[in-house]
This record gives sequence, C-alpha cells and structure tokens, in this order.
Amino acid sequence: MGIGYEDTPILPGMPWRVHDPNRPLPPVVTPRPAGGPVAPPSDAVMLFDGRDGSGWVSAKTGEPNPWKIENGYMEVVPKSGSIMSKIEFGSCQIHLEWASPAEVVGASQGRGNSGVFLMRRYEIQVLDSYDNPTYADGTAGSIYGQYPPLVNACRKPGEWQTYDIVWQAPLFDGDKLARPAVLSLVHNGVVLHHARELMGATTHRQLPVYTPHPPRGALELQDHNNPVRFRNIWYRPLD
Ligand code: MG
Repeated sequence: MGIGYEDTPILPGMPWRVHDPNRPLPPVVTPRPAGGPVAPPSDAVMLFDGRDGSGWVSAKTGEPNPWKIENGYMEVVPKSGSIMSKIEFGSCQIHLEWASPAEVVGASQGRGNSGVFLMRRYEIQVLDSYDNPTYADGTAGSIYGQYPPLVNACRKPGEWQTYDIVWQAPLFDGDKLARPAVLSLVHNGVVLHHARELMGATTHRQLPVYTPHPPRGALELQDHNNPVRFRNIWYRPLD
C-alpha cells in the first residue's frame, strides 16, 4: 500500500484514480552528477539570473517578489505565496534549476514541494523525490495528478537539478478545446515526458479539465510551504 487517495475520480482511459496509491512508482535512475548553472543560449529570455528578482511578483497580489534572493538563487519564503513572471508567453522551451532543502524535513508531498506552473495552470511537480515515496502522479517531474514521470531522476536533497521543458500551449476555438497542450520534460538530462498530451489544468484530488484562456500566460512558481530554491530560469519562445 502506497501513499495517496482511494476516494478520488478515475482518470479517463486509465485504470488509476487521481493520486492513486496503487499506481506503480516510476523506476529510479541515477542521473549525471550536479554541476554549475547551465549557460543560456544567445536568444534566451532571462527570467531569473540569480540576482535580479524584479521580473517576478506575488501571484496572489501582484506586489513585489516576496521570496528571498541570495547567493545566486531565489528561495521560497513559506507562506509568502506563489510568484509569477511579469512576462507572459505561449509555446516555448524553458530551462530552470531547483534544489530541495539539504536538511530533510517532512515526507511524501510535505518534503521539498514546489511546482512550475506553465501559464499559471499546468503544474510540473517539484518535489524532493530522493528516497521519498509518494503517490506516482505527485513524484518530481510528474504532470501533477495526471502522469507520473517515466522515471525518477531526482538528485539528493540540496543538490541543484535541471528541468528542460518543451511546451506547446493548448489552442482554444471559442470555449472549445481545439488542441490539447503537449509537454516534453528532461530532468537532469533524463527524459521524463516525451510529447505528453495534458488532460487539462492541474487540480488536487479532481479530474483535470480545460478552461479557455489566452494564448500567453505567466510562469508561476509554487509556495508549498517548503524552502525550495530556484536559479537560472530562462525561456525561448516557440510561437
Ligand atoms: Mg507542487
């Protein structure tokens, strides 16, 4: 018996519930060793360079970025709320680096939890998934509540990790979905998702659904009450 929920809806076309404790956990893969920040290509749009956090605001209030910036990273200040980029964009390539706290506190979804919300709606889970069992669709690099990663390529707590994302934004025709969002994700050099079609926007304990939204949106980083760190965040537009 794993950790999860037995009272949630069954995902369409699957034998699994949302956050199903019986859904198989992704196999563990040891990725390449951690390194320094990955230099951006020349046409990258920098969202956070390790020093200047002014490109981000509180997602809730729009007030100045409440997270801590020091030593080349930005750290979640628990309870200060999620933050979002001032820039809005659509289909894109995104690179970012994150580190869960070196000191292990909590377990399952309470340990090193944050998240990368594309267009403020579609979460790629950030979690300390190093020897930290949780429900499969909540593992680091999961499309939260929908698809576990193909493998668990998490590094040890405190080590810097990379996400490289290729994002194709969904298309809407009026209030109908014309084309679902498609995501590919590489974690520490290891493919976690290859052209995965999303079922809808991220929810907790509910079925994902699409709600029409503009073709561009901000990138949001989650305050889930754990002091997760971020650095070197940039994107390249693909639309
Ligand atoms: Mg999260």
